[in-house]
Amino acid sequence: MRKITILVPAYNEEAVLYQLHDRLSTVLNTIHSYEFEILFVNDGSKDRTLDIIKELKELDHRISYVDLSRNFGKETAMIAGLDYTTGDAVIIIDADLQDPPELIPEMIYYWEKGYDDVYAKRSSRAGETWLKKWTANSFYSILNKITNVPIQKNTGDFRLLDRRCINALKLLRETQRYTKGMFSWIGYNKKEILFDREPRAAGETKWNYFKLFNLAIEGITSFTTAPLRLSAISGFIVSFVAFCYLILIVAKTLLFGETVQGYPSLMAVILFLGGIQLLSLGIIGEYLGRVFNETKKRPLYFVDEYNNQKITNEEGQPSRRIGVGVRRTDG
Ligand code: UDP
Ligand code: MG
Repeated sequence: MRKITILVPAYNEEAVLYQLHDRLSTVLNTIHSYEFEILFVNDGSKDRTLDIIKELKELDHRISYVDLSRNFGKETAMIAGLDYTTGDAVIIIDADLQDPPELIPEMIYYWEKGYDDVYAKRSSRAGETWLKKWTANSFYSILNKITNVPIQKNTGDFRLLDRRCINALKLLRETQRYTKGMFSWIGYNKKEILFDREPRAAGETKWNYFKLFNLAIEGITSFTTAPLRLSAISGFIVSFVAFCYLILIVAKTLLFGETVQGYPSLMAVILFLGGIQLLSLGIIGEYLGRVFNETKKRPLYFVDEYNNQKITNEEGQPSRRIGVGVRRTDG
């Protein structure tokens, strides 16, 4: 029988876990043609999340968990989960029930039809402020204008991925991850289904505008070098204009002579050029920083525990392929 893994990254989710397990089980119990694994990735929670997962694991043999050594962020938690996924397909779902588990049968239906990536698109975003909706909207439209990889709007990480996609994603080991872009980048047969996003069932969102802004920069810089080109182009235009201006001034001085005026225009030009230079340097710095981070070739995460088993991370050199905390299949 084929196996499907339900992957749940969880960070401080004690308030929703029982509810999640209830709703998830209700759905999974209606599907008899597959075996299921519910894989929690505890992303260094500081509350009782891990205890609750362990407690649930006692009651439900389908549950397994990976406990990361600290909070690495959702993007890294997801790749850790994919590394430990044992199923033929994986369904990534948020712990807070904003992604309704009731959609799982539909995802499986399309998977059976041969799609490799069945992603759920939100047709509404209940419980989110207009500011968040607006910022999300403008971000996606900008991102889509400047990259060649089409990135789906209003789509989260809630999706079913075939083993082919899982293996592809496991090969992308960059440390600054923008998973949403990676889903598009790897390609394969995609199918969109629609749903209404519900407000969080309980607990609080882990995102604030600062984090979202960082994620946006991540998204732009990891999928396009367009900003670099932009800085080159604007640099070119500005120097061209400055050059014309220079000719103009020289000609004017030669023809009409010059008393000492020019201070305002001088300042204006200096400030303007200074600004352009700083901007370009900043953009270059952004990419340089990424190069710096990637050349370190650090493992993406460390695992503290996998299914009650302490992971010692001692398997020699951490393999770049499977991350660190290599799972021992015998235990
Ligand atoms: N999450 C995580 N690590 C983090 C932050 C979040 O694993 O550092 C998980 C979180 O437990 C939840 C999912 O990522 O299952 C989405 O988080 P959240 O609901 O806070 O984000 P939002 O829905 O507001 O975008
Ligand atoms: Mg949420």
